[in-house]
Amino acid sequence: MRYRSTSREAPLTSLRGAVLRGLAPDGGLYMPVEIARRSPEELEEFRRLPFTEVCFRVARPFAGAEVPEEVMWQVVSEAINFPVKLVSLSPGLHILELFHGPTLAFKDFGARFMARLMAYFVRDETRTLTVLVATSGDTGSAVAHGFLGVPGIRVVILYPSKRISEAQEKQFTTLGENITALEVQGTFDDCQRLVKQAFSDVELNRRAFLTSANSINIGRLLPQMFYHVAAYRQLPVASVPLIVSVPSGNFGNLTAGIFAKRIGLPVTRFVAATNANDVVPEYLRSGKFAPHPAFATLSNAMDVGNPNNFPRLLDLCRNRLEYVQKEIWGHGATDAETLAAMKMVYERYQYIADPHTAVGILGWEAYRKAHPEPAQGLVLATAHPAKFAEVVTRAIGIAPRLPARLAAYLKREKLSLPMSSGYDEFKQFLLAH
Ligand SMILES: *Cc1c(COP(=O)(O)O)cnc(C)c1O
Repeated sequence: MRYRSTSREAPLTSLRGAVLRGLAPDGGLYMPVEIARRSPEELEEFRRLPFTEVCFRVARPFAGAEVPEEVMWQVVSEAINFPVKLVSLSPGLHILELFHGPTLAFKDFGARFMARLMAYFVRDETRTLTVLVATSGDTGSAVAHGFLGVPGIRVVILYPSKRISEAQEKQFTTLGENITALEVQGTFDDCQRLVKQAFSDVELNRRAFLTSANSINIGRLLPQMFYHVAAYRQLPVASVPLIVSVPSGNFGNLTAGIFAKRIGLPVTRFVAATNANDVVPEYLRSGKFAPHPAFATLSNAMDVGNPNNFPRLLDLCRNRLEYVQKEIWGHGATDAETLAAMKMVYERYQYIADPHTAVGILGWEAYRKAHPEPAQGLVLATAHPAKFAEVVTRAIGIAPRLPARLAAYLKREKLSLPMSSGYDEFKQFLLAH
């Protein structure tokens, strides 16, 4: 498979080129030159075959001859070694739990797959590959765990100081080995800007072998198709139109959903469910894309004021507002609504939703109110409630049970290095280490 840039000026590249570069040299994002629609027979097989086999079949055409089949099989089977659970709260409302991986958030899918793919692609390199990643919470831990101990690769994680929960922070700042965490005095957008600047710094890139693990990396998006297939395998009724509500920040998750739809999965429409950082819902309403500095909310992994996958969404919809509107409906929720939704879901269904999942539920409910025709809602549950124990306790009055693997990290010591939000300090750090 060849990959092109959304800006259409960079030359085509291989999957290896796209994964190791992250961002295309023209500043665009890499896209597969084609997303082949699968036959109805193959889609039917997707419902019956073992899940690893299905993931392998979904991923294979995106690599082509570049990755030997046995390598792809190994990548998929090692990366996706945890379940995707569908919980039906009612006949019309399903929750797809994507948080049963090692760091309890959906980003494990992307990070674990990408880490193994990168390790394969750099197997003959003599220089150490530095993976740069800015995180607003969950990317950091997923990427850190995905790469922990992978030879030939080191990971540098930038995160906004005091803007993420202790549970999130401890999961990636306590690991040591090939993982370094930089605690930036600034916002997530500052972290994202530092990473972008590093990639466009010609001198730095001559001296260091850098790549990105943010959701701009196509290697993270491809495996996010897998769980849309998992939902398709488990949904009780396939005949009712399916609306997929995606709690969104950088819109990688939703982009991957559209990829899954392009290969043939039956999704009527996606809901871009955001918190008060509602740049995309606002774009869908007004036609104007107006990024702004992110503000802090209770669903902090979605505190993104300039969603970095937006060019891919546009590209998938032929850069036309009316096509984007046909594919995606938008809704932004306030923190007060998020807390109220968590309480409602707990009281009505005895289900504990984390604040991000609650934003997704609110997106589905708003969609349903605006569209009375029959439909079923699938809400992607992006994080385990225990990762946001304080918010959950505030909403429902009881604390979610802490899974043992999370409790163990809370006891460990934070090893992060403080950093200003100025570029020079960051660059010096990269060159010195
Ligand atoms: C990253 C994240 C999101 C947002 O996903 P995007 O792909 O950036 O839109 C939502 N919820 C949680 C818990 C996350 O960690």
